[in-house]
Amino acid sequence: MSWGVKSRRKLGPRTTDYGLGTGDKRPRTTDYGLRTLRKRLLSWFDVNCRTLPWRKARPNPYHVWLSEIMLQQTQVETVLPYYRKFLRAFPMVSALAAAPVEEVVRQWSGLGYYSRARNLHRAAQIVAEGRRFPQTKAEWLRLPGIGEYTAGAIASIAFGEKVPVVDGNVIRVLTRAFALKGDPKKNPLKKRLWDLAGRLVPSARPGDFNQALMELGALVCLPKEPKCPICPLRKDCRAYLEGKAARFPTPAPRQPMKKIRLQASLIEKEGRFLLAKRNGARHLQSMWEFPQVSPRRLGLKTKSKGVLPPVKHAIMNRSILLRPFCFAYLQGRPRRGKNYVAYQWIRSEELKNYPTSSLNQKILKGILQEGSRRRGGDRKEA
Ligand code: SF4
Repeated sequence: MSWGVKSRRKLGPRTTDYGLGTGDKRPRTTDYGLRTLRKRLLSWFDVNCRTLPWRKARPNPYHVWLSEIMLQQTQVETVLPYYRKFLRAFPMVSALAAAPVEEVVRQWSGLGYYSRARNLHRAAQIVAEGRRFPQTKAEWLRLPGIGEYTAGAIASIAFGEKVPVVDGNVIRVLTRAFALKGDPKKNPLKKRLWDLAGRLVPSARPGDFNQALMELGALVCLPKEPKCPICPLRKDCRAYLEGKAARFPTPAPRQPMKKIRLQASLIEKEGRFLLAKRNGARHLQSMWEFPQVSPRRLGLKTKSKGVLPPVKHAIMNRSILLRPFCFAYLQGRPRRGKNYVAYQWIRSEELKNYPTSSLNQKILKGILQEGSRRRGGDRKEA
């Protein structure tokens, strides 16, 4: 059986339109086929779903919302410790709304894509002011930082609205199960996938069904080596039956990696390092970092102490190579300007108290390694 072939007599030969557009010569996806897929997927999910802190019999909308924002571009294993830490700091949406944005970004530090934290904070203020959570996908879409996928996920999981979700995992499962070719990020396939996901999502347990599709993509229908022999959809998965699972989804054209070279000044004064706060108008707004300009540009007199090994960092399609130059402070007060609006002299262990990017945490690691290397050298000499 293929999804949707209820009866060959009723459907006619395998030349009918697939039901998702014209020109497709595969069988129509009938309600029967979709029902089978739903049933198999939900039964599999009931047994195999991971226990996650935001997955509850009665989901808390704030927890679901937070998890969905954190999970954008980020794996579950990475999110878990940040999710727990964030909820300890802001156990209720009212606490998040009342906190200064700097503190929210600080709790987010290390998770990346900091606009997520700022939008979450702004959205929390709107929700707290209205004294109620949005209930439907349309209402969630009105909040900053919430797009089609996130609104559908929260509305279906936390409020039981029958709306679909299409993320990377869903794209992989559906393009393989139905052997759908084309760029899934662009129309016409993008629209087909949303339509298909909309037809699949049931009135009963829409949130569980959406999570089941995503969970199958995360645990079984893996990008490189799908575990087809244990997949609940294998009997009717077109890509599997045709031995072409690896061909779906059609890969998007690779974006060339952009190489970026940066320098940072590690200026030390009596065991403390100079940390600078970025101007609010720019990328990584209001975050703290080791200044990425020379001490002279900051109006400081210093003495060079050498350079630490370069720090490598990758984000999206950017590959960053940063050279950390070390200086001993001699004289002057750091100048505020178009790059930096405030400064602090901090001990290395205090960096965690500031909202800062993973790149700066990597620089700190280099400082600490250099410190312990020097101490090791001192001991040997002694
Ligand atoms: S059978 Fe294989 S390719 Fe098809 S949905 Fe399952 S894991 Fe993916």
